[in-house]
Amino acid sequence: MAISNRSQSGAIYEHIEVKNPVTSEIIGSIPQTSADEIKETIERARDAQIGWGALSPSERVGYIRRWADLVWEQQETLIKINRRETGKTDSGAFLEIIVLDNILQYYIHHAPNFLKTQQRRTIVPFIQKAKVFYKPHGVVGVISPWNYPYLLGLIDLVPALIAGNSALLKPSEVTPFTAEYAIKLMHEAGIPRDVVQVIHGDGRAGATLVEHVDYIAFTGSTATGRKVAETAAKRLIPYSLELGGKDPCIVLEDADLDMTAAGLVRSAFENAGQVCISVERVYADARIYDALMDKLLYYAGKYQMGSDDGMDIHMGSMTNTRELERTEAHIHDAISKGARVVFGGRRRPELGPLFFEPTILADVDHAMDVMRQETFGPILPVMKFHNLEEAIRLANDSEYGLSASIFTRDFKRAEAIARRLDSGDVSVNRPQMVVATPSLPSGGQRNSGVGRRNGKEGLLRFTHTQSFLTDNLFGQQPELRLADPFSLQVAMVLRTIRRYIKFI
Ligand code: NDP
Repeated sequence: MAISNRSQSGAIYEHIEVKNPVTSEIIGSIPQTSADEIKETIERARDAQIGWGALSPSERVGYIRRWADLVWEQQETLIKINRRETGKTDSGAFLEIIVLDNILQYYIHHAPNFLKTQQRRTIVPFIQKAKVFYKPHGVVGVISPWNYPYLLGLIDLVPALIAGNSALLKPSEVTPFTAEYAIKLMHEAGIPRDVVQVIHGDGRAGATLVEHVDYIAFTGSTATGRKVAETAAKRLIPYSLELGGKDPCIVLEDADLDMTAAGLVRSAFENAGQVCISVERVYADARIYDALMDKLLYYAGKYQMGSDDGMDIHMGSMTNTRELERTEAHIHDAISKGARVVFGGRRRPELGPLFFEPTILADVDHAMDVMRQETFGPILPVMKFHNLEEAIRLANDSEYGLSASIFTRDFKRAEAIARRLDSGDVSVNRPQMVVATPSLPSGGQRNSGVGRRNGKEGLLRFTHTQSFLTDNLFGQQPELRLADPFSLQVAMVLRTIRRYIKFI
């Protein structure tokens, strides 16, 4: 939370106080970067980008490799910092490191190739030659949320750097210390200070950043994403938006119900449900609905909640009161419209002020907020379907389109269903796996966002193309007409040949 103070000289300065959500204690404070400081930081980044952009992609990747190794060595510290500001579990904080490390290794191996100058064909073979260069935008701003402060702070920033941009990270004011530490390690790995910097502050700092950078990579809510897009559109700068979701999961009648139930519990309650790609709606075939509910209750009963260390604690605290209250509001709304809480549904103050039980709802329908609005809390609502058309219609009946999943043994059928789902990705029998698969682009459609992260696409968005063409003038005469008779004849002959042979 931003706090204003007055210094001895009378000047007003602001700092951010950061709370541990499990204990409510203030764990530290950090100065808020003022608008003037942000502009100066961007100017320094602009100067530093010239030298950084002049390095080869392999040289830049070398720095990222050193940084990745340093993070790996310092993972315990990083996990501790992350857990103190989010209240998440040991395994949750470690997951952020391992998922990002996979993405780093992917780019370390592939990015130099993706960024290589491409040769393209021309319309006049042998005489003209053409190339495409991938050039950095300049200064990239990255704005990230609090739910995965390490993974989501760095997942866009790293490819932006590899592509030759300098970058500024504005983490959520709720979780600034994880980002601060990750960037400190980047400097220790040798990346010049002004090439990668952190700025701190609330939404105002984010808005200032969007006003001055050359590209903005935003992760957060749809409402804020829309504001970011409006400013970017006014300035005509490119951007990517990774926004909210209401991810559906379809369970077909042939699914392995133990694997399905355990997978759903994991995917709905991981990080206390504060995951953009958590399963937020389940549509189960009516023939296996009761059996699936029994299995869900069984696996939810084994799900461990708490703040202790160790990989056997499955779910920690929620991070913000706002999300906790929205979770409760969705449950109350659902109950008032006929839903039943079949598991959980209560706060657990004895564990900490923001602990909330993993909750399973039955008898839900699309009149309820819990099936339509993003919850960002540990709720798993399960609804019956009677035929596949109905399941697909319900899954697509949403303003969002981030990620979706299917449980089945029949992959051909799953592929046919996936092609009809309006989402950025679909995974079968393993929800949330696409974002952890570095070669696959991930991102949303509709209100879930614009653009893709990861894969070749996620790297090349941080570049613009420059086309380059040479003409050796072979056999040509000085000519003022746009086309002389001989060239026209050649063009006609080439056209006839091109009808049958692929030239370009
Ligand atoms: P917010 O949109 O509230 O905030 C996201 C970031 O934007 C924060 O750093 C925030 O700063 C900053 N911000 C706030 N106002 C502005 C503004 N006007 N201009 C620029 N930046 C601004 O989202 P949350 O932090 O609450 O994150 C939760 C949301 O993020 C959920 O909707 C979730 O679905 C989505 N999300 C999407 C993901 C994806 O990959 N698609 C992944 C994870 C989350 P501050 O926090 O300091 O106010």
